[in-house]
Amino acid sequence: MYYILHLTLSILGRTVSRFYLVVLLLDIVVRVNVLNSVVQSITTNVKQLLAAMGLVLICLYLHAVWFFNRFKDEGDVDMAFGNNPGFNCTHLLPCFENFMAQGLTAGAPSFEQSVLDEYPELYLFIFSFYFFIYLIFIAVITAIIIDTFSEKRKNLDMRDEDKRNKCFICSFSRETFERSHQIFEVHIREDHNMWKYVYYVIYLRLKPELLLTGNEKRIRNMIQRRRIDWFPNQKTLVSPDEQENNTASEISEMKQQINDLVASFNTITGLLKEKNMLVQ
Ligand SMILES: [Zn+2]
Repeated sequence: MYYILHLTLSILGRTVSRFYLVVLLLDIVVRVNVLNSVVQSITTNVKQLLAAMGLVLICLYLHAVWFFNRFKDEGDVDMAFGNNPGFNCTHLLPCFENFMAQGLTAGAPSFEQSVLDEYPELYLFIFSFYFFIYLIFIAVITAIIIDTFSEKRKNLDMRDEDKRNKCFICSFSRETFERSHQIFEVHIREDHNMWKYVYYVIYLRLKPELLLTGNEKRIRNMIQRRRIDWFPNQKTLVSPDEQENNTASEISEMKQQINDLVASFNTITGLLKEKNMLVQ
């Protein structure tokens, strides 16, 4: 689907107008992982973000209604957002449109000092607008996006870490191999080369059914049922743990032999001493 869209835009770009080619720049977002997680941080929480945006709009509307009801008859109360020119709320809809167009981008509402002196409740209006729209709702939307982005990054990092430091086939970590004096790179290149498993799956798919051995048939059935039991998970030909255990048991055996030797040596020394005493 994506490639069909890509091709259509390319053809339109070549035949109709070059401006269609500009849309192809978005392909960078698909190809770069970090940008992908930026987009996903917005798309995965669409419901939450839409709900928060809805609340912002409701809150803006409440303020517009408040301002309109109180000051629709006062012709001299001009409100401005930031450095924008002031406007007067004589009709609710244009007033709300101004709130939406400027309220979210240009900062808190402001009034001339003489107006503020005349209507002190405007201080409450400014505070309420700033508190609800900026400090709560916009902060909530930003927090949702940033939280999701950092979570996505964390998951990506964890996946990268697994790719670099865990065997794809048996899931033993690099550390486990190093503890048992094996080289992780050699293991993933020779013992558990994942591409050999891919070739094996292709080989099983292409081999005629009549020529399959019992084992191959069993594994092909598992692949068809999307089961991965046939993968040697937590198993290798020489398991690092096994080797570790073997080394540990070899050490304890040697210790036992040394103890036996010391005991025999002590017995012989004792016998020799006794013999010397008898001779004297
Ligand atoms: Zn492995």
